[in-house]
Amino acid sequence: MQFIDSHIHLQAYNIKDTPHFIAHLHKNGALKLVCPSVSEQDWTKVANLADKYSQIIYPAFGIHPWYADTCSFAWQDSLREILQKNVNAWVGESGLDRFKNQQYDIQSEVFSEHIKIAKEFSRPLIIHAVKSQQWLENFWDKLKNVRFIMHSFIGDLNFARRVNKFGGYISFSPSVLRYKKADNLLSDVPLDKILVESDGPYQGNAQDIPKIIELIAKTKNIDVLKVSEQLIQNFAEFSNDR
Ligand SMILES: [Zn+2]
Repeated sequence: MQFIDSHIHLQAYNIKDTPHFIAHLHKNGALKLVCPSVSEQDWTKVANLADKYSQIIYPAFGIHPWYADTCSFAWQDSLREILQKNVNAWVGESGLDRFKNQQYDIQSEVFSEHIKIAKEFSRPLIIHAVKSQQWLENFWDKLKNVRFIMHSFIGDLNFARRVNKFGGYISFSPSVLRYKKADNLLSDVPLDKILVESDGPYQGNAQDIPKIIELIAKTKNIDVLKVSEQLIQNFAEFSNDR
């Protein structure tokens, strides 16, 4: 089964033989990989991977909310610079995580800057949001006219509907395979607004993605190959890669 992994931290794997690793993923069905950075330290590594494997890797540059307090003085300038150099790069991952960090101010400031820059460059934005539905209420308006993806989505139907209402896509990771209310959630989210990801190496691996696609197909009662085709098309729509 073919798929696009919309979130895999290749730089976080301890890979000895990168060409072999990428070839293995490709052989197992991964047509493309989006490789998000989590901190400024990651940016060069991710840029190098994307340079070497430009046919398959989309890089994303940003600062994860866990590292919001590590930003360098002029990080926004560095981000703009690296986006300019990498014309197919996305912005992210960025967002809000109330589970890990109760401090709203710093996270909100860094997240707002990411939204602004994604808009400025007209690039897709990868959002990480954990236990922060309340906080997000301050951001929906800012997200208008931004192509964004809510990564590794787990949450209630109202949250999912809100993401879609404001034009966002929802990306399911292996965590949905363990989610008790997955049936409810997967049957409610429109198929043309869904993406899939491994969130490797943290939540699973590329081999888990066919299982996610099978679950979506089963829940929606649609042929699994049709679902996998639709998801590839969704990615093309989302990334404007047509
Ligand atoms: Zn991530």
